[in-house]
Amino acid sequence: MAEPALDLTQKPIYPTIEFEQFQGVGLSSQRTRDRLISRLMTLGVHDAEVLKVMRVVPRHLFVDEAMAGQSYEDTALPVGYGQTISQPWVVAIMTSWIRAGRPLHKVLDIGTGSGYQAAILSLLADQVFSVERIAPLQIRAQQVLKKLGLNNIEFDISDGHWGWQQKAPFDAILCAAAPDKLPESLLEQLNEGGRLVLPIGKEVQVLKGYEKTSTGVKESFLGEVMFVPLKTGVEV
Ligand code: SAH
Repeated sequence: MAEPALDLTQKPIYPTIEFEQFQGVGLSSQRTRDRLISRLMTLGVHDAEVLKVMRVVPRHLFVDEAMAGQSYEDTALPVGYGQTISQPWVVAIMTSWIRAGRPLHKVLDIGTGSGYQAAILSLLADQVFSVERIAPLQIRAQQVLKKLGLNNIEFDISDGHWGWQQKAPFDAILCAAAPDKLPESLLEQLNEGGRLVLPIGKEVQVLKGYEKTSTGVKESFLGEVMFVPLKTGVEV
């Protein structure tokens, strides 16, 4: 069945969340966000729920004010501490892949960073668990997410290589930093039918998807990407 066309004129789908006051003007206006959504659609993003959510989340609030004007370009941007907010197309592809058209209950977000990916997930899942190794980054992300009223997210400062054992199993795990090889503990923390997406590699990175089935793990190659490395240990 063909995906229904996305009606870009419709109001935000989450009326309980007062995003309108954060909409921004000029280069961070709704019109600018809509242009980004149109671009994602032409790049082959078809998950209408993901597009709707990305249409309403004010990405400009997750970057430094000086960069707000670039926040709806399809590029990664620096967020301090040598880290970046991922490129919108990459966020859309990863989120669509783990969603696989189904409602999500529990999701693990590895690498909170700016908190933008966590915001997108929080509107698509009942509960989001977000881990980060750089404490000041996560504190800033928490402040923005709180301001937006997104309160179904739990945070932890830890090394994402280990997932979040106490909160497992997850329907989906999304990791926004690249390990050299697949951390096996992440697969262990998935439900049956659960999906993991992450970049793997050093100079050359590939975006990989893993689906846990009753008989094993199905692996998908989703493209070549460029992410910051998944480092070891935490920085406080
Ligand atoms: N999802 C973020 C992307 C941030 S970039 C966003 O939407 O902005 C990746 C993040 O992963 C960085 O903040 C980096 O500090 C974090 N990171 C790197 N290695 C990590 C590890 N081992 N455990 C947890 N977070 C890690």
